Parts: sequence; C-alpha cells; structure tokens
Amino acid sequence: MARDPVCAMEVDPKHAAGTSTHEGVTFYFCSPGCKRTFDKDPHRYAHGGH
Ligand SMILES: [Zn+2]
Repeated sequence: MARDPVCAMEVDPKHAAGTSTHEGVTFYFCSPGCKRTFDKDPHRYAHGGH
C-alpha cells in the first residue's frame, strides 16, 4: 500500500484515483481532488507537510 500524502489515507497503487511524480518519487492519491491539491504545492506534501 502507498499513502496519499494529502489526506494520509492508504491507497492501493493499482486502484489509485491519480498519481504524481515529484523529484523522481511517485505519489498515489485516493481522489482527483487530492491529486489537484498535491499538484498545486507538491513540495509541501512530498516532504512531510512542513
Ligand atoms: Zn486523499
């Protein structure tokens, strides 16, 4: 399982609603809305939310 970095839900990569790549790491999302939120500010979510 992967973890959605926006809402912290566990996401099965095979059934993810969306994916994004940031600095070579692939992230998986539970919903298109979480992907949009991530894409607006990937740095914030990809590095632990600080
Ligand atoms: Zn989510």
